[in-house]
Amino acid sequence: MFNLVLFGPPGSGKGTQSSKILEKYSLVHISTGDILRIEQAKESPLGIEAKKFMDQGMLVPDEVVIGMISSKLDENPNVAGFIFDGFPRTVAQAQALDNLLDFKNNPINVVLSLLVTEEELKTRLISRGESSGRPDDNEEVIMKRIKEYHAKTSPVADYYKSKNKLVEVKGEGTVDTIFDSLCDEIDNAQE
Ligand code: ADP
Repeated sequence: MFNLVLFGPPGSGKGTQSSKILEKYSLVHISTGDILRIEQAKESPLGIEAKKFMDQGMLVPDEVVIGMISSKLDENPNVAGFIFDGFPRTVAQAQALDNLLDFKNNPINVVLSLLVTEEELKTRLISRGESSGRPDDNEEVIMKRIKEYHAKTSPVADYYKSKNKLVEVKGEGTVDTIFDSLCDEIDNAQE
């Protein structure tokens, strides 16, 4: 089994690169942002609760996302591996994920961290907001999401660094050159 975390700030290209990685390697995609948006569209109790946080650019509480991940893992036994996109976003989520995976004897193999400058992130998120229709892609909420990232999510990189699992990849350039760098690192980690 091969488990990969694609890590990076909002707007770093995790979604775009995940779909390309999925095409090439047979991994199951788990995007907490996508799952939460589906729950919102269904107006499920979880979706309604999550919306309050998401619309303000705040992270959804750990218990909620950890529960979602646990069910996703159980729903997909005997797969080649998972690609986690937008998760874990706090150290508590990273620890919970390690516990869940240890239980299955299939740890995280590698964490690929996309590096993008703050200026480029803001430009990308604002231009995505013009076409995505996502209510959290306006300037005020984007600033709040970047702030949440620095406060709560960037420590996750240190967590994986201390476990020697973090690999940094330049997240600027064309989609294809970034993809090639990611594939090189995946191939290295699979050897
Ligand atoms: P981004 O483009 O900012 O990376 P996502 O689609 O991954 O966006 O997430 C959108 C929003 O969903 C976040 O701002 C947050 O409110 C919520 N969310 C997604 N994943 C998580 C998570 N792992 N923990 C807490 N909140 C999350």
